[in-house]
Amino acid sequence: MKTLIRNVLIVTMNEDSEIVEKGAIAIDGNRMAYVGPSEWTPAGPFDRVIDGDRLIALPGLINAHCHSPANLVRGMMPGRPLEIWRAYYRASLRGMREEDFYASALLGGMEMLKNGATTVLDHFFGNQACSFMGAGAAIQAMRDLGLRHVVALTLSDKNYEETIPLGETTGNLADELKRMSTSEAKATKAWLDECEAFIETFHAPERLTTACPGPSAVQRCTDELLCGSAEIARKRSLPLHIHLAETKAQAVVGQQIYRTSLLKHLDSLGVLAANLSLAHSIWLEESDVELFAASGATPVHNPASNLRIGSGLAPLKQFLSAGVHVGLGTDGSASNDGQNMFDAVRLAALIHNQAGTDFNHWVTPVQALAMATRNGARAFGLDAGVLAPGKLADIILLKRDTPAFTPLNDVMSQLVFCENGSSVDSVIINGEFVVEGGRLTKVDEKEVLRLAEQARSRLEPSIQREMAAAKTLESKLSEMYFRVFR
Ligand SMILES: [Zn+2]
Repeated sequence: MKTLIRNVLIVTMNEDSEIVEKGAIAIDGNRMAYVGPSEWTPAGPFDRVIDGDRLIALPGLINAHCHSPANLVRGMMPGRPLEIWRAYYRASLRGMREEDFYASALLGGMEMLKNGATTVLDHFFGNQACSFMGAGAAIQAMRDLGLRHVVALTLSDKNYEETIPLGETTGNLADELKRMSTSEAKATKAWLDECEAFIETFHAPERLTTACPGPSAVQRCTDELLCGSAEIARKRSLPLHIHLAETKAQAVVGQQIYRTSLLKHLDSLGVLAANLSLAHSIWLEESDVELFAASGATPVHNPASNLRIGSGLAPLKQFLSAGVHVGLGTDGSASNDGQNMFDAVRLAALIHNQAGTDFNHWVTPVQALAMATRNGARAFGLDAGVLAPGKLADIILLKRDTPAFTPLNDVMSQLVFCENGSSVDSVIINGEFVVEGGRLTKVDEKEVLRLAEQARSRLEPSIQREMAAAKTLESKLSEMYFRVFR
């Protein structure tokens, strides 16, 4: 299949952030064959020609961190810090089965696609009662939608109560946490075997799937599990994805266990490398930023989630000044409530511009968009994130006749500060149109909503029961939270 998009305003997102005013993009199969001025367009024939006169072409956005099982509980999590919030969120997962993971991933995937994302990293944690925790169902949903996906299987071989600074807080809290975490932890060897089998079963880039290890967080894994995961990723040339230093409590417990920062501990194990992406990366030591720069590892910024559950602000300006390639994510809908990457781009560009800080180092529109495009691709080893010949044809086309781009003063700036996803007209992934005229082409949108409603209703008794159990932990976990900040 050969497609030509002509007379289109192209925002390439290449290293020079080139913009082509009246350009053409030729797609041959799943890659771009030509990107440049319209007058040099290669001769056809083309199977399809699109007049892009009123369109803007941008690389598809890359959501570098989320959890697909969370979409069914959007809007219902209390505004609480992570350690308390997590008890509620984990409770909401407990009754989920394959069909629920499918419905949840389908719902989030639809939202991402319609808002211009073409790739998502799903740091998948589901239910141990299902095969691979239910990750296969999520993968099926994303394949059905035509959404490119990197699925990092969440691994953790420590009991949860050992991974938070409980201190004097004991009694029923430790017991209840134990009840919750016994269903989650598994022996190191069993996890590594499961991870290998997961990759063997699902890794298939030609079917849009990258399968890789996703240790839950440094402090939630033994060194053996961290090193074993890194080894699996290394020998198969895969990405590796881990949560890092999301809250102060995590940094505190890291110091208690390792006597150094969580990142330095990873470095001492030889795990820190360019294939590693680290969600959040908030509570760091100053020298950790240089370690990021030297290793080529990618911190993944999740601004909405960090605000929603009060985790803190990642040192984004320090990262950018040090030349670190920062990725961008929505995080799960339990700590964000939505999966719209244009929201993430806008927040990342705004929330770091605090009064009294050096405005010469405020986040620029190009930096914010680079995080959501080429930096995400780089983190996952995908030949995408830039509009250039030879790259994978993951492209979005936005309508220019919308308030966001009228009048068109500065396309880069308007993509970041004005657009909210509603101008997205078409989404092309691997050379295939998966959204056209703002609608999914491969899946019935009404059916996605129906499946999500049905799954949520089926889960109601389990959610109510487990959320009530989580609520009994709140006062003790609150004590811990305030102690950490005293
Ligand atoms: Zn996360």
